[in-house]
Amino acid sequence: MEQDARIYVAGHRGLVGSAIVRALEARGYGNIITRTSGELDLKDQAAVRAFYAAERPDYVFVAAARVGGILANDTYPAEFLYDNLMIEANLIHGAWQAGVQKLLFLGSTCIYPKHAPQPMNEDALLTGPLEPTNEWYAVAKIAGIKLCQAYQKQYGARFISAMPTNLYGPGDNFDLEKSHVMPALIRKFHEAKESDAGSVTVWGTGTPRREFCHVGDCAAACLFLMEHYDGYDFVNIGVGEDVTIRELVELVQRVVGFEGEVLWDTTKPDGTPRKLVDVARIHALGWQARVPLEEGVRATYQWFLEHQDDFRG
Ligand code: GDP
Repeated sequence: MEQDARIYVAGHRGLVGSAIVRALEARGYGNIITRTSGELDLKDQAAVRAFYAAERPDYVFVAAARVGGILANDTYPAEFLYDNLMIEANLIHGAWQAGVQKLLFLGSTCIYPKHAPQPMNEDALLTGPLEPTNEWYAVAKIAGIKLCQAYQKQYGARFISAMPTNLYGPGDNFDLEKSHVMPALIRKFHEAKESDAGSVTVWGTGTPRREFCHVGDCAAACLFLMEHYDGYDFVNIGVGEDVTIRELVELVQRVVGFEGEVLWDTTKPDGTPRKLVDVARIHALGWQARVPLEEGVRATYQWFLEHQDDFRG
């Protein structure tokens, strides 16, 4: 990407989009284009076409999506499917119409079958039934991958896709009801420390294994792929290592400095036993995650401390 390239980051207020903007700024890119959802409704085809015609971006990062946890996905299936299909169809088709040089579409590892072998390799796509609770989101994301491939195939467009694993970091959702485990633990241990509570209750048995990738690493991978990858196949983004939830709980407890007891509420679900991506493809391309888990947790806790007032209702 040329330093003066016009780069549109769709979804710049989200966890990944905001990290991509920070990574671009840190590397001196000065022509970053963003729109809030209030300024541009990505579900509106005519509005997206007019935006592309006016701004003429050279590069597009598609980090915009309707996202949410297991409950939201299950409660609003129509919105999860329709909104995400519209957002990506408008952004990808509009980019082709506007002659965008290159586009990176971001999905998620929920595209893989529920029982995909671990670590999950890119070739597992469409080899089995999806996890039913998030199939609406997953089907939309699979359509996004296929759109990029179709536009490559029919029009020679340089539209590529990447699938990040579980992400954490600055800008995460710290709402205890809706958040993923990492921000939930940071907040629970911090609030227990502040209030001198004797114990913290975490969910499940602690035996499931999860991979955690710092969103700064994910953004670096996105820039790397935009600069160096033109393939038809999509690429996983991850660290290639996982930890048990118990190990994560101990790490966050130590980083936050909570000295009380940890109680396990085994009436809460464990979820899938293991979720890890195969990172052989991106390693072979020449990119590896850099942020060690402990360093990432420390940085995220620092960010939480600076922003915690925003999360108090
Ligand atoms: P998943 O990766 O889609 O299963 O989603 P989560 O990040 O929400 O949960 C990962 C694992 O962490 C599950 O086994 C949860 O039971 C466990 N866990 C432990 N404590 C918590 C907590 O306070 N909040 C959440 N969300 N998960 C927790």
